[in-house]
Amino acid sequence: MSAFSTDVRILTCPQCGAPIQLGRQGGQAQCTYCQAPLVVAARDDAPLQHAASPLSEAERIEGLRAQAASFGSKRLPPEMLAVLAGGPLTPERVGPMLGVWRMYCQRASAGDFAAGDNAVLLTGVLSGHFAARAEDLPRQRALLESALDALRDPSQKQVLRCSLARASARVGDLASAQTWFAACDPRSADLQADTAYRVTYATLATAHGDFRSALAALGPSPTAVPIALPSRLQAGVLRANALEKLGDLTAAVAQLVEEARALDGGRAATPEIVEASPHLHLCPQSLPLARMQW
Ligand SMILES: [Zn+2]
Repeated sequence: MSAFSTDVRILTCPQCGAPIQLGRQGGQAQCTYCQAPLVVAARDDAPLQHAASPLSEAERIEGLRAQAASFGSKRLPPEMLAVLAGGPLTPERVGPMLGVWRMYCQRASAGDFAAGDNAVLLTGVLSGHFAARAEDLPRQRALLESALDALRDPSQKQVLRCSLARASARVGDLASAQTWFAACDPRSADLQADTAYRVTYATLATAHGDFRSALAALGPSPTAVPIALPSRLQAGVLRANALEKLGDLTAAVAQLVEEARALDGGRAATPEIVEASPHLHLCPQSLPLARMQW
């Protein structure tokens, strides 16, 4: 069983933060570290219920483009800026960040939409930190599933389900990846939910060697479909990989160079994205060539 198996529930201990495993149907458990009791319901794997969208596909894409153009203009609250300050997350900052994360999850679970957005952002930062070490994968899983339980908004839930699907694929558990992903909406009107869907669809298609589908989800070029800024490089690497594997090495190299130059920190982050997904064998020829040019 993988750390991201949908056959079980793995949640964060509300008292000490350790991962607690239960059956898929939920029930009662006790934290093995601090003995705190935990009672949870069965996980809800039903399709996420988005508000019925009266938008045509052209209107939906137009709305996503408008969101992409203004992305990142929202000001973050001071407690968030405090835990994010200091660059890449270090081990001694994990505890304080988990404290703020827990607070946002509690508020989101009471229906606070803005707190939900902040919970999604911190879940992403902490999830990336835990993903770096194999022994921390149960913590990554527990964090993602606990946040998924706490959030109420379907678009916010979709972002986390997509993270769980990609994490499952990363450990080779493609069946669980499909279960996490199956509840997601391919026609979300929310930019972050739509970007998560596209990047996850492309990731799973890549894992199956289906590079045409990966390219269809991401479009043929960096601006062909609206993508939320924090995912632009990841989408770019998946797109370049698909182009390379389909035989267009020239376009793959050109796009890697273009995006690495255009986006903040792109030269450092692009190889890191490749290294973080060894299971996908991304851009084996195009990345070395791109690095000589950027
Ligand atoms: Zn505990």
